[in-house]
Amino acid sequence: MSDWEVVIGLETHAQLATQSKIFSGASTAFGAAPNTQASAVDIALPGVLPVLNAQAVALAIRFGLAIGATVAPRSVFARKNYFYPDLPKGYQISQYELPVVQHGTLKIVTDAGEKTVRILRAHLEEDAGKSLHEGLPEGLSQSVSGIDLNRAGTPLLEIVTEPDLRSSAEAVAYARALHGLVRWIGICDGNMQEGSFRCDANVSVRKFGAPLGTRCEIKNLNSFRFMERAIEFEVRRQIECIEDGGTVVQETRLYDPDRDETRAMRSKEDAHDYRYFPDPDLLPLAISAEEIEQVRRAMPELPQAKRTRFETQYQLSSYDASMLTSSLEHAEYFEACVQAAKGEAKLCANWQNGELAAALNRANLDIAQSPVPAAALGGLVCRLVDGTLSSKLAKEVFEAMWLGEHGGLADAIIEAKGLRQISDQGAIEAMVDEVLAANADNVAQFRAGKEKAFNALVGQVMKRTKGKANPAQVNDLLRQKLNASA
Ligand code: ADP
Ligand code: MG
Repeated sequence: MSDWEVVIGLETHAQLATQSKIFSGASTAFGAAPNTQASAVDIALPGVLPVLNAQAVALAIRFGLAIGATVAPRSVFARKNYFYPDLPKGYQISQYELPVVQHGTLKIVTDAGEKTVRILRAHLEEDAGKSLHEGLPEGLSQSVSGIDLNRAGTPLLEIVTEPDLRSSAEAVAYARALHGLVRWIGICDGNMQEGSFRCDANVSVRKFGAPLGTRCEIKNLNSFRFMERAIEFEVRRQIECIEDGGTVVQETRLYDPDRDETRAMRSKEDAHDYRYFPDPDLLPLAISAEEIEQVRRAMPELPQAKRTRFETQYQLSSYDASMLTSSLEHAEYFEACVQAAKGEAKLCANWQNGELAAALNRANLDIAQSPVPAAALGGLVCRLVDGTLSSKLAKEVFEAMWLGEHGGLADAIIEAKGLRQISDQGAIEAMVDEVLAANADNVAQFRAGKEKAFNALVGQVMKRTKGKANPAQVNDLLRQKLNASA
């Protein structure tokens, strides 16, 4: 398999987070009863005219700026003609020759390192309705299918890459990065179960150095895991096909997660099958430099910029910084935590990426749902910095905070549970002396060069103080005394 190169291009449909549809005033809210959110425009009554939703345009501009693309001063809506029961107009309004966003890039990180993926275009279009083959109202014949036009006219941004991806891992890394970005800049809720973010993967294989092979397009991948497995299957299928003397046929395929395979759905349409032409009901979309500037001014700091700032401003490793900028929620949590911890950024990063991340993971919670708010974690960090807590005691306090004990506040928990670290030099010294006197065998072993015996002595002191002695002080004192009496 090693002399085959995998080539992948992704097309992603991101549902834009507008209140109303792209060409009508109907609501885009998810989950309403069928056909209750379909206006005259959405069901394509004769004589209706589309009116472009300005917010959808603003969100598309925002995306264009976020990927460093050109926002076209003039782009054109086109009719993409095809017949399908969930498309009452007989065409989808999309953009074809002149899309609103052109030539951007997105950085991805995989085990193999960093890579820049070129995004060829992103265009505005409307979604189609949905055919329902099951779950129809009682009393309807089983042979009947229903049409729900609630989704018809929902604004989509279709984001198309160049065929730059070279493995399923890169494809998934790109999809994740894009998913993170659209949520970060607030143009799409990213809900994959509800279909707000779905990807088509174009996959081909070739011998290294050869021209591009024939591609198959796997439609509607709505999870990263399925994307990875679908691509893996498709690559194997194409290589086997060619090695057996066959040729890959350009077609649209569907992934079946139950059987972990892709299946042919239809032969691929060519552009001319769609008889694209400019929609005469809509003027070309003109975007002024002033409009673009307005969107730019309202743009949040982008993930890449924030990551770089975290590295320099807080002196964090690139690993820490990338973890903390994996979503806007992570970044906001971190900065609030640092503020509460009076600037102790490295400790905050360690706790957020360590103890907190592990606990959230175990409870299957997002950081936005954390039972320990950022200010509370910052409060815990303060007690570490001022020596009230050792890191071991801090973990105990954190557990109590997680469970919401004593208002979930570090100070109250330390007080109520007596978890204050013992840092009194005299008290620790007395305890060290006791332990040395009572453990002559360990002392002798240490002198004989057994480092383990030293740890046993530390353990004895910690035991006597119920784990509350300052471990650094215990270590120092023990060494001093052992060396002095050697
Ligand atoms: P269509 O709209 O018909 O699917 P596009 O020209 O928009 O066609 O291309 C769709 C996607 O296919 C793009 O992401 C592109 O990068 C990718 N692509 C084109 N050729 C290949 C190929 N030979 N192998 C893999 N991907 C490809
Ligand atoms: Mg396509």
